[in-house]
Amino acid sequence: MALEKYKEKRDFKKTTEPEGIKKSSGGNLVFVVQKHAATRLHYDLRLELDGVLKSWAVPKGPSLNSADKRLAMMVEDHPYDYKDFEGSIPKGEYGAGEVIVWDSGTYHAIGTSDKNESENLIREGLNKGDIKFVMEGKKLKGEFVLVKMKNRGEKEWLLIKHKDEFMSADDVTKDDRSVLSGITIEDIKNGKLKKSD
Ligand code: MN
Repeated sequence: MALEKYKEKRDFKKTTEPEGIKKSSGGNLVFVVQKHAATRLHYDLRLELDGVLKSWAVPKGPSLNSADKRLAMMVEDHPYDYKDFEGSIPKGEYGAGEVIVWDSGTYHAIGTSDKNESENLIREGLNKGDIKFVMEGKKLKGEFVLVKMKNRGEKEWLLIKHKDEFMSADDVTKDDRSVLSGITIEDIKNGKLKKSD
């Protein structure tokens, strides 16, 4: 997997988003969910795999309720460093709007916590259209599945919480602060980039 599509879409003279280079975490695989107030508000779920972040745009955001099936549109791979990006993408640029790191943490395939085994299983799952994984985030915890919808093209997946002790009927997106800086999308719109500003 390469970052050509990511680079093609962006002008790094204009956006503060990171340029695309491959990189891996030292320890466990990482994930991030960014809240992105683009033309339409959505949440971007990104899972580290093979030195990039595999990415899905989830219009309604993730849910801890296993009764919810959240549409997740696969988008281009993002560079590893994107996991720390928050700020404002300028008007006229691709994805223009505000971004915060809504959740982050480590993740692994169900059945193993070994990084290499996890990557093998996640890669297989990606090819099969059925990725089973465990998130260890600040907001998102426990088992999830990403399943590719049949007969709906290459990009449409569903994000579903498995039943486990982390299941909850409460709306997890109500906690709308960045886990990195404590700021909200509104804070960025108001010119505030750090909680302490
Ligand atoms: Mn996005």
